[in-house]
Amino acid sequence: MTGSSNKPTPPTEERRRLMQRVRRTDTAPEILVREVLSDNGYRFSRHVKTLPGTPDIVFSKLKKAIFVHGCFWHAHTCKRGTTPKTNRAFWIAKFDSNRLRDRRNVAGLKTMGYRALVVWECQTYDLTKLERKLKRFLQDT
Ligand SMILES: [Zn+2]
Repeated sequence: MTGSSNKPTPPTEERRRLMQRVRRTDTAPEILVREVLSDNGYRFSRHVKTLPGTPDIVFSKLKKAIFVHGCFWHAHTCKRGTTPKTNRAFWIAKFDSNRLRDRRNVAGLKTMGYRALVVWECQTYDLTKLERKLKRFLQDT
């Protein structure tokens, strides 16, 4: 991966501003997930740096980890996960490397005996469904 001469073009100023905006709103889904978990009496750790990918939410006793992914940044196959039309090469490379890293992190957790769940931003819009999904993951042995 490193040492490639096909470095993608950096984004324009306009795109950079959009990126910053996206990143800020990006944290909201994680807050929602944490709220649902707390409401259901679950205790967890946040951003555990000792685990692959620094999972957003970790249940160390259960050996389970949750990643909350923004649909844009992690290129989800939903309508929020679209590739911008300008600087396409940059974005495709960026999304590819994000996706690859996500896969590696989940695999890394697995080798440590952890199970991982990815919650997509678009899956946090319906709180009833989100709660069901989280409970299913945590109650599953
Ligand atoms: Zn999505």
